[in-house]
Amino acid sequence: MAHFLVIGAGIGGLTTALALRQAGHEAAVYEAAPKLREMGAGLVLGANTMQALQRLGLAEAVASLGEPLHGLTIFDEAGRVLLDVNAAPFAARQFGQLTNIALRHAALQHFLLRQLRAGTVHTGKQFTHFTLDPAGVTAHFADGSTATADALVAADGLHSRVRRQLLPEARPRYAGYTCWRAVVDASGLNLPRTGRFQETWGRAGRFGYVPVGEGLVYWFGTLNSPQPQQPDLACYTTADLRRLFAGYHAPVADLLHLTPEARLLWHDIVDLPPLRRYAHGRVLLLGDAAHATTPNLGQGAGQAVEDAVVLGQCVTNGAAPEAAFREFERRRRHRTHRIVSRSWRVGQVAQWQHPALIAARNALLRLTPRFVTDWQTQFIYRTRF
Ligand SMILES: Cc1cc2nc3c(=O)[nH]c(=O)nc-3n(C[C@H](O)[C@H](O)[C@H](O)COP(=O)(O)OP(=O)(O)OC[C@H]3O[C@@H](n4cnc5c(N)ncnc54)[C@H](O)[C@@H]3O)c2cc1C
Repeated sequence: MAHFLVIGAGIGGLTTALALRQAGHEAAVYEAAPKLREMGAGLVLGANTMQALQRLGLAEAVASLGEPLHGLTIFDEAGRVLLDVNAAPFAARQFGQLTNIALRHAALQHFLLRQLRAGTVHTGKQFTHFTLDPAGVTAHFADGSTATADALVAADGLHSRVRRQLLPEARPRYAGYTCWRAVVDASGLNLPRTGRFQETWGRAGRFGYVPVGEGLVYWFGTLNSPQPQQPDLACYTTADLRRLFAGYHAPVADLLHLTPEARLLWHDIVDLPPLRRYAHGRVLLLGDAAHATTPNLGQGAGQAVEDAVVLGQCVTNGAAPEAAFREFERRRRHRTHRIVSRSWRVGQVAQWQHPALIAARNALLRLTPRFVTDWQTQFIYRTRF
């Protein structure tokens, strides 16, 4: 049995601790926040992610936390359908009962936390750096404390401190657009339960929404902005967003109207240019720390969950952590790189603003044959555990 330190208690870190425990190892999680933050966002978990969760025995319980989702419909500003992707047949063929799920990020995170033994997650532990010695790895925390184990898994997200120590030159890359999100109580709107993620691609930007259960709806809106971290955008209110998306078809204005300012989340969209290595001796990068992606395929958290399951498999049969980490890298690098680059390209096209480009894109979307959308779906669902 090996002992692992896991840095970060996001979806990636918590699932990793579970997978390591199920593989017969000890795992302790160290999280900087004083308590798990209630991230007021929604998530889509693809059927591939649900299959990964099934390997951990969690798929059914996670499915009950959200709403089933069978596809994606893209509209123009006026509400005309540009593309309708039906993912259900693939999911059924490949994964049987499993389907995509839309749920609240916080619901998933708290559920995962409850699956771990009390005392596994140590909050208020801001990792600063690690040191190596022949016996293992020691993590150092901002409060002066340390923890030592056989190996360390970095699940500390996009701005990973662990990655900064290993690869200081690897920096997040700004995608050229910014995003507001919220989860709101939309039970009063009586939105039809279409089982679809609905996105509108218009001149101002993209607006998408999906029900996440219990009358709640998760929405996002994007806007092109040449520079990241624009102070004027940081001050945007829902009234500004209503002006931005004025003229978009229903229920865009209603969802914005229902959103309390305190619920509004704002993030520039960034990813991590593909890394050559995830395994660094006794230290492994995983989840967003290794391969943060733009959200256009809805696969960031999903890939972190896939990582955790594969890592659990790599550490079985008494493999030393260094060898298990190398095996993890061999199995995960290609798939995660493909997701990151495909998602980046989808985002660039979806954010086109020039009227001629929009017209050409929309015409193409309307004509997209079924086999092309099927192929895209297959690519995301093609996982091997
Ligand atoms: C707009 C948007 C929409 C998205 N939509 C989807 C979607 O639909 N589906 C999907 O699958 N994914 C989606 N994602 C991506 C998804 O949220 C992330 O990929 C996922 O949460 C990454 O999980 P993680 O555990 O790797 O990292 P994180 O969730 O970032 O967790 C990292 C944890 O490490 C902690 N930490 C950081 N630094 C330290 C430190 N020094 N010491 C200790 N702890 C530390 C943090 O507090 C945090 O708890 C979306 C992302 C965005 C921005």
